[in-house]
Amino acid sequence: MTQTIRIENISQHVGEKVTLKGWLYASTRKGKLYFGRMRDGSGMVQLVAYRPEVGDELFEDVKRIGQESSIIVSGEVRANERAPGTPGGFEVAIESLEILQNVEDYPITPKEHGVEFLMDNRHHWIRSRRQWAILRVRSVIKKAIMDFLDNDGFINIDTPIITPSAAEGTSNLFEVGYFDETAYLAQTGQLYNEANIMSMGKVYCFGPTFRAEKSKTRRHLTEFWMVEPEIAFCDLDDLMDLEERFMTYIVKTAMEKCAAELEILERDLAPLQNVTGDFPRISYDKAVEMLHELREKETDPEKKKELEIEWGDDFGSPHETVLTQQFDKPLFVYGYPSAVKAFYMEPWPDRPEVCKSVDLLAPEGYGEIIGGSERMSDPQKLVDAIHAHGLPPENYSWYIELRQFGSVPHSGFGLGLERTVAWICGLPHIRETTAFPRMLYRMNP
Ligand code: ATP
Ligand code: MG
Repeated sequence: MTQTIRIENISQHVGEKVTLKGWLYASTRKGKLYFGRMRDGSGMVQLVAYRPEVGDELFEDVKRIGQESSIIVSGEVRANERAPGTPGGFEVAIESLEILQNVEDYPITPKEHGVEFLMDNRHHWIRSRRQWAILRVRSVIKKAIMDFLDNDGFINIDTPIITPSAAEGTSNLFEVGYFDETAYLAQTGQLYNEANIMSMGKVYCFGPTFRAEKSKTRRHLTEFWMVEPEIAFCDLDDLMDLEERFMTYIVKTAMEKCAAELEILERDLAPLQNVTGDFPRISYDKAVEMLHELREKETDPEKKKELEIEWGDDFGSPHETVLTQQFDKPLFVYGYPSAVKAFYMEPWPDRPEVCKSVDLLAPEGYGEIIGGSERMSDPQKLVDAIHAHGLPPENYSWYIELRQFGSVPHSGFGLGLERTVAWICGLPHIRETTAFPRMLYRMNP
């Protein structure tokens, strides 16, 4: 019996005979020479068999292994600089083979497939090298998020998924029956976190959130993961400082721990290496001014149309894209019009039409990845805002009460995990950032 190893550890076994358990990813043959690529979940390695060496019987067996067949292979590990793989530079010379299940008609072949076909076959597609790499980066980013916050004194608290009322506007709620009542899937855990900071000072929740997004875009899912830190005694500037450190840590950790994955994804690392130090901070007023100038200079009539904006409008993705193109780091835009933001944001002193909100826009056209703000800490202002937004105050009685017993200035933000993964991996669409995406017109498989 030889030792079963995982491919990720193969460099420690050069010259030894080992056993690998996994799946055949691809193969080619040149006369008496067979090359396979085997994956086991932890990595991918080249398999070789040479007919005169292994004999006719084994060579015939090796030849008939179809793509994605489950196999157990034993053989000697050799260093071979040119052998592709993750980690590259190694191959296993097949000495014995057990085929657990031979596959002849795996639906995803090396030829090009359309996106709809791949999405219908998402349960298989996740085995492909690119998807494997993306899901591993996601896992590393999740851990980086938690490590940073845990090391920074935050307490992780879970907030409910079944909620009685809306927090981020009522238009994109998913309704669920709750015995004789109607409940909604949580769009955010923030309101609960504002209660949690009164106990813990600094908290975060990190879990799935739900929004019935009715438009088809490259950056909206209907179920996505959001990490939401909330901090007592924190103002807008403190919040931006925290977001800057947080983002820098996440990007740095992903580059350190996922070098191989980012290479598979052919990610240009230069823009990510820029994510350090101070990020530029501009006000919404300034951003609108810049947009007017950029629109003036735009020669393409279609783009010019997309860039139309007046003070008071929210930014669409074309606006965010051109704004971020003016900088080589993530960009903070703060002080949005209160009317386009949620009801709980603290108004700007002496300028109630503007609120103490801040979005962090990712470079390279990825747009908003963090939305945050200072929250209203005065109970009367909050009641007025709830009325002004046409929300039923009785739903928020406990939330208003938080401002009546030791209210403090406080702030928080929400970072979308999938948008962060899309940006760090350099993906054109958010659908590949999670194993089984939920979108408008897509909840299968
Ligand atoms: P947008 O205007 O782009 O729809 P938003 O302003 O509604 O986003 P927030 O309510 O501020 O988003 O949510 C905080 C973060 O959650 C966003 O910055 C983004 O990273 C993420 N996010 C929001 N909606 C979605 C979604 N439908 N799919 C994936 N991520 C999302
Ligand atoms: Mg936002």
